[in-house]
Amino acid sequence: MKYDVLIIGGGPVGNYLASILARDYSVAVVEKKNSFGGKACTGIIGAENYETLSLPKKAILNELYGATFYSRIQSFSIGRKSPQAYLVDRKTLERELAKSAMKHGAEYLMSTTFKGFKGGRAVLQHLGETLEVRAEFYIGADGVNSTVAKAMGAKTKAEFLSGYEVEVLGEFEKRNVEVWVNKEITPEFFAWVAPIDEETARVGTFGSIESLNRFLRLRMLKPTKILEFKAGPVGFGWRKPWVRGNVALVGDAALQIKPTTAGGIVYGMLCARALRKALLEDKPENYWNYCSWVRNQISFGLRFRKLFLGLDQEAIEKIFEVLGSKEAREVIESQADFDDHLRTAKAILKRPRLLAKLIKVSPSLIKALL
Ligand SMILES: Cc1cc2nc3c(=O)[nH]c(=O)nc-3n(C[C@H](O)[C@H](O)[C@H](O)COP(=O)(O)OP(=O)(O)OC[C@H]3O[C@@H](n4cnc5c(N)ncnc54)[C@H](O)[C@@H]3O)c2cc1C
Repeated sequence: MKYDVLIIGGGPVGNYLASILARDYSVAVVEKKNSFGGKACTGIIGAENYETLSLPKKAILNELYGATFYSRIQSFSIGRKSPQAYLVDRKTLERELAKSAMKHGAEYLMSTTFKGFKGGRAVLQHLGETLEVRAEFYIGADGVNSTVAKAMGAKTKAEFLSGYEVEVLGEFEKRNVEVWVNKEITPEFFAWVAPIDEETARVGTFGSIESLNRFLRLRMLKPTKILEFKAGPVGFGWRKPWVRGNVALVGDAALQIKPTTAGGIVYGMLCARALRKALLEDKPENYWNYCSWVRNQISFGLRFRKLFLGLDQEAIEKIFEVLGSKEAREVIESQADFDDHLRTAKAILKRPRLLAKLIKVSPSLIKALL
């Protein structure tokens, strides 16, 4: 078997990449599971990029227009007239992208695990049988614990966290996400409540199962009303290089994840597009440069994450006072971007009054953010 491109990993990013490469190249995708979906993931994707990337409407379960932010003692809401994000069904998203890739000619090898490289070939295991596949170019889209990254000798400098999420029955505002920032309950990350409808939501946090249980108690959600429980890892940081010779990494395999929210689907897909561009030019080495927007977002997110870890709840309460003010909410409502957190921070810090108040909370805050 010989292909132009072999993609290892049939998750959302691998399947998206296959769908956009299959018109120009002979493409095969290797997926170790026997069906798509199943990964722990809330499935929130920014609406604007959902359209830009032409992702399947069929996967959308709910449209999210706004968010309410809660600290220990305060809350404020941000709302828009159009959907800012979609909550999707991961299985449908991955299947639809795989179907599109197949229709454009991509071949799928399901229940097949990539083991490593040998003599320029990929060594694969399919139901106990070992096979070797040759391709001109290999792409690791095999998630946070990427085997391809290890095989190509990529180095990782990152913080790894476990995410815990439940689908639970309760009462929810269907169009509104809840973001809870309370270090006494969830010290390592915020907790989220993402409604699927008025009576079901995906609720989760990163850190420990105890944090999630504390949060469920605080939010008065019953452990006996859980429909589904999932856990999975996320990595905030850098894994480099993103390309070496005829091997590249994309999506979670390259840690193309927002350290602010742990969202990785859009950044992975934007980088998949960048990789396609570099491959079409026959200059894979340009891939890194073509991802500069995503890299800037990751750099900003890492500074934000460091700052968050250093703040105590008192400082968070003071920041909430500033962000909950009428002026700040107006800026966020008019200029915040679901995927461009750097732009959102700059828009807030451009307002002299807000800047002055935030400097008072912590002078290092401004330095860290910009
Ligand atoms: C609790 C939690 C909540 C999250 N919520 C969101 C969210 O709301 N929005 C968002 O954008 N992101 C979210 N994320 C992050 C998101 O899940 C990832 O960024 C996204 O799944 C990355 O897609 P991917 O295709 O790069 O990797 P993956 O989804 O991890 O897919 C990798 C694929 O490769 C396959 N694979 C792995 N190893 C091999 C191998 N050796 N051989 C063959 N196949 C292999 C796997 O089976 C898998 O199908 C969340 C993550 C967690 C943990």
